[in-house]
Amino acid sequence: MKNETVIKQGPVIAIDGPAGTGKSSVTKRLADALGYTHIDTGAMYRSIAYLGLEKWGGIEELTEERSVEVANTTSLAFRREPSKNPANRIYANGRDLTDKIRTPEVSMAASRVSAFKGVRQALLSLQRRLGCQGKTILEGRDIGTVIFPDADVKFFLTASVEERAKRRLAELEASGVDVPTFSELVKQIEARDFADTNREIAPLKVAVDAIVLDTSAHTLDEVVAQLSAKAKERIKRT
Ligand code: C5P
Repeated sequence: MKNETVIKQGPVIAIDGPAGTGKSSVTKRLADALGYTHIDTGAMYRSIAYLGLEKWGGIEELTEERSVEVANTTSLAFRREPSKNPANRIYANGRDLTDKIRTPEVSMAASRVSAFKGVRQALLSLQRRLGCQGKTILEGRDIGTVIFPDADVKFFLTASVEERAKRRLAELEASGVDVPTFSELVKQIEARDFADTNREIAPLKVAVDAIVLDTSAHTLDEVVAQLSAKAKERIKRT
């Protein structure tokens, strides 16, 4: 993997963790509270997966070569559009994919394509470029370990699989897509955890200097309050 020198123009916060820990909601709220820009790196992998599925059909068709080709020919950009929900939109080659990338099929396909080296390489420099603008919060799986090992603050969120499945189910129901059963969802989350944790490149793991928080027994407000206090304390010291 290419190691470009990136000069941070201001503080960078990394939030990593597996699916369903409340990472996205927490990051969104924390970014608003601190006046930072939210960069959802999972949405980038999801967009590549969505375009791959659209072009080639099923998950099994997403070979490394095809996935890398999609990643190398796709220009991704985030845009904030306050009149829309969610306001943080992702565009791929000028197309707004935000409302299309949250289905279980795209989740599994994102996990598959994200294990390919060329796909990660294609997204790495954009993630660093966006992040190093400063006052940014990046959420993902490898932000504190690979993308910004020198992030000013690193958080790693965890939660039990059951709690994560419960939250994901509520999210899917609210977004109106076809909803799997609870036990099917648990299986999907476990499969994705396994793939993300055991892949060769940039696996999901806790950075040595990350603050780990189990969100199972906490409300969103409590988690945001804790992270916000810790982030302010750390950033003040740097
Ligand atoms: O966070 P989210 O569930 O949207 O991520 C979708 C998938 O993208 C994850 O399961 C993971 O395989 C991949 N991903 C990654 N590295 C990141 C962010 C997401 O490999 N930094």
